[in-house]
Amino acid sequence: MSWIGIDLGGTKIYAVVFDGNGVLAEAKSKTPTQGGPLAVVDAMAAVVRALGPVEDVAGIGVGAPGVIDPVEGTVRQAPNLPGWMEPFGVAEALSAALDGLPVAVDNDVNVGTLAEHRLGAGKGADNLLGVFAGTGIGAGVVLDGVLRHGPTGAAGEIGHMIVRRGGRLCGCGGRGHLEAYAGRAAMERRARDLERKGRDTVLVDLAPGRRMTSGVFVKALAAGDAVAIELIDDAVGALGVAIASATSLLDVPLVIVGGGLADRLGLSFVQRVEQACRADVFPRNPELRIVPASLGDRGGSIGAALMAADRIGVAAEKKVVR
Ligand SMILES: [Zn+2]
Repeated sequence: MSWIGIDLGGTKIYAVVFDGNGVLAEAKSKTPTQGGPLAVVDAMAAVVRALGPVEDVAGIGVGAPGVIDPVEGTVRQAPNLPGWMEPFGVAEALSAALDGLPVAVDNDVNVGTLAEHRLGAGKGADNLLGVFAGTGIGAGVVLDGVLRHGPTGAAGEIGHMIVRRGGRLCGCGGRGHLEAYAGRAAMERRARDLERKGRDTVLVDLAPGRRMTSGVFVKALAAGDAVAIELIDDAVGALGVAIASATSLLDVPLVIVGGGLADRLGLSFVQRVEQACRADVFPRNPELRIVPASLGDRGGSIGAALMAADRIGVAAEKKVVR
């Protein structure tokens, strides 16, 4: 039996066929920037067809950014998906587009954490925190071997933990949140702001009128750009503070750091976050390890397939028993 996992991102849709041992096929496309949820569902269905004829597929899992209702399969809010103004039933619409194949939906960071827990850097660990730094910042919480969602599905929203009271404005409207210091979109806003105020930076030259990608930050750092160095220093410091607080609260001995920005900046970035965290961490947690995610780009889609197997597989078994 195999499962299709889809990583629905703000810029691309990445799908894999996964049979529990490995990836059998993969396909990707750009996320449509117009047409809202219906266009996104059509694009996901097209990517699934592009995987080719796959035998024995039992269902599909979708990892989507934003606030998800995993029971209803609804994406309630998705600020990073263009035109997503109100809740939309992704599971129902995608299933209808694919001849009734069952579909389960969860948050992209939750499924990324699930993949790292089962198959990646967290294999064998029952308690861990997966922190993903990309356009925004989110975390997945595994306690006692189980991925925790919380009553509204918002457990792990580390991006909106306060790292500096009254500090920088966050995309959510709050102040001093982690994401305002270490989320790629906030770092881009800050870089453009500093440039307008007269600071010289290659960050803006490298991304004129287009998105300041994680790759742009890597290039600017390599060029010794002072603004880029300052922004990354701030991001490292904020991540260190937030992770120190989160690990004290949750009693987790392992933190896995992944996501576009962390993946591109590499091991040295994660090591710097670990150092910053150690400066603040509760002294009774000497065992704490902070390591890079190991599944990279594919983690989200593999995790979505694992989530589908958990949810749809179990639902199917219950049906048989009944
Ligand atoms: Zn916020």
